[in-house]
Amino acid sequence: MVNTTVQKRIFLSSPHMSGNEQKYINEAFETNWIAPLGPNVDAFEKEIAAYTGVNEAAAVSSGTAAIHLALSLLGVDKGDTVFCSTLTFIASANPILYLGAEPVFIDSEPETWNMSPHALERAFREAASNGKLPKAVIVVNLYGQSAKMDALTSLCDQYGVPMIEDAAESLGSSYKGKPSGSFGRFGIFSFNGNKIITTSGGGMLVSNDAAAIHKARFLATQARDPAPHYQHSEVGYNYRMSNVLAGIGRAQLEVLEKRVQARRAIFERYQLELSEIPGIQFMPEINETYSNRWLTAMTVDEKEAGISVTQLIEMLAAENIEARPVWKPLHMQPLFKDNMYFAHNEKESVSERLFSNGICLPSGSNMEELDQTRVINCIRNLISVKEDERKIV
Ligand SMILES: *Cc1c(COP(=O)(O)O)cnc(C)c1O
Repeated sequence: MVNTTVQKRIFLSSPHMSGNEQKYINEAFETNWIAPLGPNVDAFEKEIAAYTGVNEAAAVSSGTAAIHLALSLLGVDKGDTVFCSTLTFIASANPILYLGAEPVFIDSEPETWNMSPHALERAFREAASNGKLPKAVIVVNLYGQSAKMDALTSLCDQYGVPMIEDAAESLGSSYKGKPSGSFGRFGIFSFNGNKIITTSGGGMLVSNDAAAIHKARFLATQARDPAPHYQHSEVGYNYRMSNVLAGIGRAQLEVLEKRVQARRAIFERYQLELSEIPGIQFMPEINETYSNRWLTAMTVDEKEAGISVTQLIEMLAAENIEARPVWKPLHMQPLFKDNMYFAHNEKESVSERLFSNGICLPSGSNMEELDQTRVINCIRNLISVKEDERKIV
């Protein structure tokens, strides 16, 4: 008999409301603060700054906008270069192009899947010998796992180049007890709908340099000079966060700890139930780091498991389960075909390997246990079916 009932769709990561959002939204409506400024914006900024242990934060319209502002504040301009993690979402690098600068992509290392200190060191050495250091280094914390911050920070310091920490995926994570996002000259967060907490769309720029954050607010409000008339001396943007959306963010931040716990529990369950399957390995969490496990990521060795990640993703899709490949490295994107790339070492491009065999499983904090079971059983069945086929052959 053919089963014609389509099972409920399981999303990769969908918004998860706390129930308290409406209170803050109502306050905004009752006081008529329906604008890209207001009490929720001010409070959300203070709350994020306190949570991440930095001096100041500016709420903006997206994580991408926050990166754009950070690069502007660091004086990135036409013809400059900026180093950037290659294994990441395009938003990490697009703002480099907005400013007419050129990204140079840096590979991952196998322990964190994040920026390889070896590759960064070679890139710095080559840049120094050409007499042209980058204006900034954008370091991404993939799927919640912190990069090797000690090594990366000391290299940036050695060459005197500021770091921007792209913590869009790692709010709630920490490295040696220090909150993610607080390591670079600037840190950025995203509150897009799929992130660990959301404002439906939004972002935050954080820094210990309070003056720079004041400047960021100025740039994000069309760079309007203090004058009774409308006067402008430099280029600005319309990047501030709405006071209504900041209200959603405040209610979301109240439950961040719970969201991290839920995502970590999902990761642990997948790991417990799937790691015995030959060829499956989960994304590591290195010593002295704590990951929010935004997405559960694992690699599938096709030779051992008898199935490729592409096949696995297609077969899960047929069961109405949304899984995704690991980010396609930016140096492999047609947009960046002419940009420089530094691999982990001469023999190994770690990001390319992770792209060819990495997969992200549904990881939303609102995912029910039964849905987790469905994903687990599905993967087990698909891989054992494939094994049976091999035995027949
Ligand atoms: C989501 C994301 C961004 C961009 O955030 P938006 O709020 O969508 O603009 C930047 N970097 C990484 C690594 C992300 O995952």
